[in-house]
Amino acid sequence: MVLPWDQDPTLAAFPKTPADGQLLVLETRAKVHAMPWHRQKLTLIVSSVRHFVEERRAAGFHVEHRLADDYASGVEAFSAWAKPKALHAMAPKEWAIDGRFRALATRLPLTIHDDGGPGGHFLTTRDEFLTWVKGRKQVRMDQFYPLMRQKLGLLVDAKGKPVGGKWSFDADNREHARGVEMPTIPWFTPDALTQKVMRWVGRDDVGAWGRLEGFGWPVTRAQALSWLEHFVERRLEGFGPYEDAIRSDERFLFHSLLSVPLNLGLLRPDEVARAAAEKYQRGHVSLASAEGFIRQVIGWREFIRGVYWWLMPGLREANGLSAHRPLPDFFWAPERTGLQCVKEAVESVHDTGYTHHIQRLMVLCNYATLAGLDPRAVSHWFWAAFVDAYEWVELPNVVGMGLHATDAFTTKPYVASAAYLKRQSGLSAKGRGPAAARDEAPCARCRYDPDVRVGPTACPFNAMYWDFLDRHRERLSKNLRMRQLLTTLDRFGPEQVKAIRQTAEAHRKSLRPYEPAWAFHEDRG
Ligand SMILES: Cc1cc2nc3c(=O)[nH]c(=O)nc-3n(C[C@H](O)[C@H](O)[C@H](O)COP(=O)(O)OP(=O)(O)OC[C@H]3O[C@@H](n4cnc5c(N)ncnc54)[C@H](O)[C@@H]3O)c2cc1C
Repeated sequence: MVLPWDQDPTLAAFPKTPADGQLLVLETRAKVHAMPWHRQKLTLIVSSVRHFVEERRAAGFHVEHRLADDYASGVEAFSAWAKPKALHAMAPKEWAIDGRFRALATRLPLTIHDDGGPGGHFLTTRDEFLTWVKGRKQVRMDQFYPLMRQKLGLLVDAKGKPVGGKWSFDADNREHARGVEMPTIPWFTPDALTQKVMRWVGRDDVGAWGRLEGFGWPVTRAQALSWLEHFVERRLEGFGPYEDAIRSDERFLFHSLLSVPLNLGLLRPDEVARAAAEKYQRGHVSLASAEGFIRQVIGWREFIRGVYWWLMPGLREANGLSAHRPLPDFFWAPERTGLQCVKEAVESVHDTGYTHHIQRLMVLCNYATLAGLDPRAVSHWFWAAFVDAYEWVELPNVVGMGLHATDAFTTKPYVASAAYLKRQSGLSAKGRGPAAARDEAPCARCRYDPDVRVGPTACPFNAMYWDFLDRHRERLSKNLRMRQLLTTLDRFGPEQVKAIRQTAEAHRKSLRPYEPAWAFHEDRG
């Protein structure tokens, strides 16, 4: 049985030859209406699943392709009709669906295969990660990542030591990208099958939000492989140095955009990481770029998936900073904010279903943390609006990394003032920089001033940042780096602190929730 993210014929649950068995592919009404999905996300998932069906049929397999109310009832109905001797499924990647499949397995001849390890999509089994977590004082990605490098034999010498003498070259990867030319993204023209799906998604009762036109995401393995090749050939070298950059006129920079095919199973994480390692071994890209990229794929991605199964279902409720403000309207209607960096990030999501990591973390979630937005509401938005979002990956990223609603696997909140955003978009420390930078840096075109801390013209990131440190002083003072920042805050003096509080509060009071509100059904599907 094939769920949307299992589009890999080599997975353990699937017949290897047509004589071994048939495939059951389900689309569900419940999932389509579970959230106000981005129109490109719906198109991507439905079109890729239908391409997968066509490809498997062309390879000689019998594929039973059905529309069901939800996945579990679809399996039951199929089972009652076909009376199979055995059913096989990969462990569903979503907590609620996983639970329902495990309940089914108690009354149907259903074997559930781990989605990690040999025959799985991930590089570790769920139990391997839980065993690693057990008894650890701290659960941190940088402790997990070397184990993955050694396990896969990637960028390690014969003794298992890291090539280049250290595991991470992150510190080398923080340049802004002002004036740097980027290769264009080879988007795909939708074929007849995708166009048919787009017509359906375009109906008022199906797609809810986001631009549909311009859809060009890969929907087949062949397209995904050609993107991998393009990335490794043309963009990997720039990935390292410009990984943390922000540019108004470049939405994708040197990012790979491979989360989309990876999360559908169209690419396997080990083949993606090996392609980057090979490029380095042939001397075509720097170690910092290859290592930086590999760390994301076999380190962060794998770690985040482990954390999801470790912390669910409580992770959905996490709200360690007691943040309760509803999501402001501009997350759905970007024209309603004057904050240029936030507007550009949301516009990118609206137009493509994508923003790169730094916009997700240091623009959108930074803003959400400082403004005290409710973690569950922010998570719902990410889940519905991003083309690569599934609960297993967006929830730990949003709630843990992005909003610090739990400190179970991160050291400190990822928060910053406008100074960081200016720097990453290539503006000089003082002033908004040369005229040439105006098209490239959001701060240069913003109606707020990134160099002003308080008052109506000040960038809200500034006052909200210091106000955040002040409000969460007790909790944050446990961390050495945050303690140092609190010392700076203490030097401001009472008048300045009062003005900071007033400016931050005035901004927060100006926020309005979106009307009409949409419903988010996390468990449907
Ligand atoms: C608030 C927030 C929400 C996020 N939501 C998602 C999400 O819904 N889906 C998703 O796949 N990623 C998510 N990420 C992680 C990361 O931002 C995206 O994987 C990345 O931006 C996807 O673009 P890319 O393929 O161009 O990535 P690149 O920058 O090219 O990175 C390469 C690959 O590394 C992996 N990766 C890197 N960082 C992470 C991470 N923290 N967690 C998991 N995988 C990672 C992805 O597979 C990605 O394709 C989120 C991060 C944050 C901070």
